Amino acid sequence: MSGEATSHRQTYDHAPFLRPLAVLSAAMGRELTQVQGPGGNTSLKHEGVLWVKASGTDLADAVETPIFVPVDLETARNAILADEDRPIPALDTQEAEGMRPSIECSLHALMPHRVVLHNHDVNVIVWAARADAKATLGAAMAGLNWAFVPYARPGLPLTRAVRAVLDTSRPDILVLGNHGLVVGGETPEAAAAHLDRVRERLEIEPRTVAGPDHDRLHALCEGTRFAPAAMAAAHLTALDEAALHVAAGGVLYPDHVVFLGPDLAVLPQDGEGGLEEIEARLVAVPGAGVLIEKSVPEAAQAMAACLGLVSIRFPQDVDTRYLNADDIAALLGWDAEKYRQELARRKAAAMQG
Ligand SMILES: [Zn+2]
Repeated sequence: MSGEATSHRQTYDHAPFLRPLAVLSAAMGRELTQVQGPGGNTSLKHEGVLWVKASGTDLADAVETPIFVPVDLETARNAILADEDRPIPALDTQEAEGMRPSIECSLHALMPHRVVLHNHDVNVIVWAARADAKATLGAAMAGLNWAFVPYARPGLPLTRAVRAVLDTSRPDILVLGNHGLVVGGETPEAAAAHLDRVRERLEIEPRTVAGPDHDRLHALCEGTRFAPAAMAAAHLTALDEAALHVAAGGVLYPDHVVFLGPDLAVLPQDGEGGLEEIEARLVAVPGAGVLIEKSVPEAAQAMAACLGLVSIRFPQDVDTRYLNADDIAALLGWDAEKYRQELARRKAAAMQG
């Protein structure tokens, strides 16, 4: 404990006011149901400077490593008002060297609160990926100072969507459609209190399932480019019929596409040895578990776990709002028309095979 306290003191010698936020951020980052891999970000505004999580860093490391990069708040807000589609630069300081602000930096600049927390809570994602998200959330969140922001791609489109909401209201809580949660408060404790309140309202009991069939998964993978998913939660997707149904139906939230691509392949029940023809990076083996391409980065393992945690909570017989072809193409940096052609090609190939 004292070791952690010492290093944490040294980590933020240049900005001691960040210490309470660092502790809170690390706690958030260690909860797989809130943050998966490099997802989620936190920030604090201090004397005209927005300190926001740097791109590619993990919240879980916040105590041991300086993860916050300083940005001039007025510059950031002016860029937003000018509707500029370019990254907001970090301040030219020694601490900021080699760091870039998170792509979601503008979200933090826009929120008027001193402290802003953003996570990809799996419970929130379930509510926010329902076709009737706004109406059902309206009932579940009654009495809280909150607003719903329809899905928009992280970056300028999301900035615009959040701006539209904040132009006419001052919510402490934003539920981002097909994405996650944003809360603001004057202190880390106040912001965390909003987070806890939302979690209480929106917590969903996951369905219980039998464990994965490791022997079968290992046997299937032999000699292929796949391996059983590394994190236990990832297998949930294939161990429950309703979970598999919702996960195989489309893409639920943007980070999934970024790290795992748009496709989840489902191995047919008699599909022994059919892995070679599969183009997807993620394969569900119904009743056995989930396989993942061996070459994927660690963050992709966390995203596979996220899908398991979301899909095992997704209610049965509820309509889903999946990302559409344009949303997915934009996330992949593809031309939308090219992506539609690719989809048609894959569909034809699947029908032949
Ligand atoms: Zn996000």
